[in-house]
Amino acid sequence: MQIKQITQYIESIAPLAFQESYDNSGLIIGHPEDEVSGILITLDITEEILDEAIIKKLNLIVAHHPVIFGGIKKLNGRDYVERCVAKAIKNDIAIYAAHTNLDSVFGGVNSKICDKLNLRNCRILDPMTNFLKKLVTFVPTAHAEKVRNAMFEAGAGSIGNYDSCSFNLNGTGSFRGNAQANPFIGQKNQLHMEEETRIETIFPKHLQSLIIQALLKAHPYEEVAYDIYPLDNNYPQAGIGMIGELQTPIDEMDFLYQLKKVFNCKVVKHTQLLGKQISSVAVCGGSGSTYLNMAIAQKADVFISGDFKYHQFFDAENRIIIADIGHYESEQFTKEVFYEFLTKKFPKFAVHLSEKSTNPVNYLI
Ligand SMILES: [Zn+2]
Repeated sequence: MQIKQITQYIESIAPLAFQESYDNSGLIIGHPEDEVSGILITLDITEEILDEAIIKKLNLIVAHHPVIFGGIKKLNGRDYVERCVAKAIKNDIAIYAAHTNLDSVFGGVNSKICDKLNLRNCRILDPMTNFLKKLVTFVPTAHAEKVRNAMFEAGAGSIGNYDSCSFNLNGTGSFRGNAQANPFIGQKNQLHMEEETRIETIFPKHLQSLIIQALLKAHPYEEVAYDIYPLDNNYPQAGIGMIGELQTPIDEMDFLYQLKKVFNCKVVKHTQLLGKQISSVAVCGGSGSTYLNMAIAQKADVFISGDFKYHQFFDAENRIIIADIGHYESEQFTKEVFYEFLTKKFPKFAVHLSEKSTNPVNYLI
């Protein structure tokens, strides 16, 4: 197995195009065509994690947090990042990270949090914007089905739980090829009118080149007419955070105790209780404080995340309960996410969960 077979599979679930602008997900160290002896799954890269990979003879580490965020100009071993990078290269260990792209998909970090809390009807809390495009093309009617299906197979036409979505309108196209043309139908230098179908469909922008390739391959014309429009619609299939409902509303204190137990937290920092039942729950693994307003706007009763600063707790203003369970605690089940989808796809391959907690925060109780 080559590294790229693993990374392409992960990116089919969590496309790199879904990562935030500041992020550095993807293959950080290693060559895509190197052979993989086994995979070690972790939340963070530390020197201890590298030692674990070396001892277990696993030469690919799949992590949630990228070990390198900004640029590195020197490798002098002066901090843990420089030491980890040097150690990985010396020991021929590849490092891959799926960070905010895995936060942003169904089946990713936040889906797992929702599963652990038995939430139903889960939706993306902050759907991506400027991510959808419209494709319009004109096809001789007898070939419309073939072209439509080719675009659908490449990923066009998916809306929520529906696929193969398009709008089709028949009309008349006109064209005249010059002396160098080789028209599929009609004659050179003669104006031709043809019954054509205008096909409109929608697609997420990271699939654009695949869909255009599929269109050009399936379309019979020498010159294919098509238009691509950017859309202002949200993309509800991807984005940060999730919101869902409990099966039955419960008392807020009971909910917080349950939360503490499920996430095995030493402490849950929370804002003032509101004397209401908890029904709607918003979650955002990691540092999610900037999504508080989205949770309030969508009428969540509680917002679960980590890394809230003192002043940010004031922003709840009795409209919601903030429950800060800790960054590591909120993302701890991400290791399970990786493990489940990698072992499902590669059942006979050595995929190991790291036995170490990389949480740098300790609690004195
Ligand atoms: Zn994180």
